Amino acid sequence: MHYLSTRGDATPRKFCEILLEGLAPDGGLYLPEHYPQVDAPTLAKWRPLPYADLAFEVLSLYIDDIPADDLRAICRKTYSQEVFGTREIVPLRKLEDSPVAGARAPLYLEALSNGPTLAFKDMAMQLLGNLFEYELARRGEQLNILGATSGDTGSAAEYAMRGKAGVRVFMLSPNGRMSPFQQAQMFSLQDDNIHNIAVEGVFDDCQDIVKAVSGDLAFKRRYKIGTVNSINWARLMAQVVYYFAGYFQATVQAPAPGAAPEKVSFTVPSGNFGNVCAGHVAHMMGLPIDQLVVATNENDVLDEFFRTGVYRVRASADTHETSSPSMDISKASNFERFVFDLLGRDGARVKALFGDALAKDGRFDLSAEPAFVQAAQRYGFVSGKSTHADRLATIRDSFERLGVMVDPHTADAVKVAREHLVAGVPMIVLETALPIKFAQTIVEALGREPDRPARFDGIEQLPRRVTLMIADATAVQAYVAQHCK
Ligand SMILES: *Cc1c(COP(=O)(O)O)cnc(C)c1O
Repeated sequence: MHYLSTRGDATPRKFCEILLEGLAPDGGLYLPEHYPQVDAPTLAKWRPLPYADLAFEVLSLYIDDIPADDLRAICRKTYSQEVFGTREIVPLRKLEDSPVAGARAPLYLEALSNGPTLAFKDMAMQLLGNLFEYELARRGEQLNILGATSGDTGSAAEYAMRGKAGVRVFMLSPNGRMSPFQQAQMFSLQDDNIHNIAVEGVFDDCQDIVKAVSGDLAFKRRYKIGTVNSINWARLMAQVVYYFAGYFQATVQAPAPGAAPEKVSFTVPSGNFGNVCAGHVAHMMGLPIDQLVVATNENDVLDEFFRTGVYRVRASADTHETSSPSMDISKASNFERFVFDLLGRDGARVKALFGDALAKDGRFDLSAEPAFVQAAQRYGFVSGKSTHADRLATIRDSFERLGVMVDPHTADAVKVAREHLVAGVPMIVLETALPIKFAQTIVEALGREPDRPARFDGIEQLPRRVTLMIADATAVQAYVAQHCK
């Protein structure tokens, strides 16, 4: 398997070449040159597999430069009951049989948030940590990961990289702006290779510093600076696996020979479009998906596109701070991958849209394109939006009527899922975090504290390892240099 760039650079690259890279040299995102096809007999063969072995089957279609035995061992080490808390890794639980047009559709939650940091980002980041350690050891190299986080990404990266040979993490976060639980999760890590830097500023300041430091090519090369953001293909690929696992759990039986396979739909709480883009890849591989429902919060860049065909990047001033903060985006960094497929993999057009039109006008319009109609018809994409009031109402309704406590992001998806039910088609909502990460909103909705897994008791009282710093790229560079000896 080779990888190419969404902006037209077709220099063939292998998986391990792009693993440690961010953007392609032409500014595009990496995608496989084709999507391997999974037919009905293969689906039947995969159905009974434990999650780690299913992951190996999916990943080995995309990775041919790691020996199979090594890749299988990496998958088994990553997706264990010890790390993810259950044997199923992503257990499915039925919320209810929801009424729709005089009939019913089963509504499920797929739990992606039982990993070390209680958010779905662990699903990919844990794998990335093990792949990085493997590949760096093989090359005899080191990597210093520099990132900015408003919460979930940073802690998932730190828990994935802690104690790993050859890797250091320097994670910037806006001082005092993450939830108290998220701060405790990150700052209580005592591993030597993890560095928390609390920046006096907002998330955008952190991101600007990362951009400035990464833009200093001499510094970047000298200190082997890398990233783990959601545009990394390995993260996306890891996420493809749980779409298969969710499908197998919601459809108990394999179809009779010759019969059409049963379809399911997924609703995905979306920000940077990384999670739902993995659903698109699973769909393109042949997983029988009916709809991919993109759920947004008040930051409705994606909902606007799927409703109107207009993609319009928001200015900072128009990006809202909401109670589902991990979906607060001004643009969706993985969206370019889907548009590349939508436009028949025309790299020149994608470059004109994402490279030129967005830089010049901050928007582009595909509403007059036949391809835009295909977003729904051929690719199954539909969308919806949820607000703070919807979120509170959904958290309350789920808890009081169904006895299930959902986090604010998952609540956005449950709300939007109900708007897209089709009689008889299972609807799987991806649960992307546990309520304990966002206690303030749970208390606002329910008047009580969220449940806390026992292993997090007293986490706020643990000693903290964090360095406070002014919002200045030079100061961060000095810190990195000093800690890379
Ligand atoms: C990151 C995150 C999302 C958004 O996922 P994308 O891949 O950026 O679309 C949703 N919910 C939670 C809890 C997250 O951490």
